Amino acid sequence: MSQGVCILGSTGSIGCNTLDVISRNLDQYSVRVLTAHSNWQKLLEQCKNYQPEKVIIADQQSAELLTAELRKLNLSIQVESGRDAIINAARTPGVEIVVAAIVGAAGLLPTLTAVECGLKVLLANKEALVMSGELFMNAVKAHRAILLPVDSEHNAIFQSLPGADDNGLASLEGVHKILLTGSGGPFRQLPLNELSQVTPDQACAHPNWDMGRKISVDSATMMNKGLELIEACFLFGVPLEQIEIVVHPQSIVHSMVSYADGSVIAQMGNPDMRTPIAHTLAWPSRIEAGVEPLNFFEMSNLTFESPDFERFPGLKLAAQAMQVGGTAPCTLNAANEVAVEAFLAGKIRFTDIAPVIRKTMEHVEVREAQNLQTIIEVDQLSREFALSVVEQRGQ
Ligand code: NDP
Ligand code: MG
Repeated sequence: MSQGVCILGSTGSIGCNTLDVISRNLDQYSVRVLTAHSNWQKLLEQCKNYQPEKVIIADQQSAELLTAELRKLNLSIQVESGRDAIINAARTPGVEIVVAAIVGAAGLLPTLTAVECGLKVLLANKEALVMSGELFMNAVKAHRAILLPVDSEHNAIFQSLPGADDNGLASLEGVHKILLTGSGGPFRQLPLNELSQVTPDQACAHPNWDMGRKISVDSATMMNKGLELIEACFLFGVPLEQIEIVVHPQSIVHSMVSYADGSVIAQMGNPDMRTPIAHTLAWPSRIEAGVEPLNFFEMSNLTFESPDFERFPGLKLAAQAMQVGGTAPCTLNAANEVAVEAFLAGKIRFTDIAPVIRKTMEHVEVREAQNLQTIIEVDQLSREFALSVVEQRGQ
């Protein structure tokens, strides 16, 4: 019997990679629901290739265009539109696995629905967890959802930890430290005085990974590693001090766990998101991902270095947000989303991103992150303030 899959954000980089893995394992998985924001052309192509039961597209006009095209092709696929339909996507009968691959805070509610339905949730959308931390993890436990990390580092950590219960909650027995690796992005060695001049296209040209534009900019500022630090604390229930960031420019080791007895276990592989996607889809089994195994005889030197906190101020801001706790990570994430969007739109410089976040964190009051309402309010307030900082900088 094949398992029904819903992909939240199917038209993105993670979404397309997930469909590629599914296409190699059609005996085990069937595509039930696909969602997108506005890219109806890509969704149409996916409808032709995978014949889902339902597609949901947030933008109303795109939904109309898609419906018309599907009719011409005589494809009887249900089309829904609007934000609420995306939030409820996981409730579609027959959905057993939900891939959370919407980018940013927009993914929070749709992902939480999947958790509340007690489904198997494959989490790529790290921003959702960073925003809602404990609340998210409590919901996972309360609804007995199975939460599995798609983010390559967290997937590597998950694979290197001693084991996990049936719900994917990993054991920490004998663990000394978690070593979170990161490539350092495209500007690791750029002279510091040139950083302010880099363009969005340069920032999005990651040396090892092909990803969506938002996470590509996050990788260039290393805020991605900052968000991942917070993600790891919540996912694995470890304090900040037990996680160390290790810069590894080749992206072959995807993260490591060091143990009390001196052992270090690493997960390695070519930098291809189909590996962690296939791992989580099939867990605790293994399936074909279409990824070439490593060729150790052709591999260049693997190097490791400590992160440069002066070059990447976002790293410290993220650690600080986690230390403060409450809604501080939510504010960090919201301000980062606003700043990255402004940078991509040419409104601020690359080096303005961290100051926008810092100013927002200084301004927005930290609250207890007890309920969803508070988190949504703080997200909104932080966005408004960050936007006002962007406007001042852009003048
Ligand atoms: P992309 O930008 O490539 O794709 C984003 C997806 O989300 C698209 O399907 C997009 O639809 C949809 N979307 C965007 N905004 C909204 C919205 N407001 N409402 C509903 N849907 C929306 O992102 P990635 O695939 O790169 O990343 C997705 C998530 O996975 C991010 O959280 C990222 O941090 C994480 N991740 C990504 C990795 C990667 O290799 N790409 C690696 C590890 C984590 P549309 O196409 O119509 O705009
Ligand atoms: Mg990652």
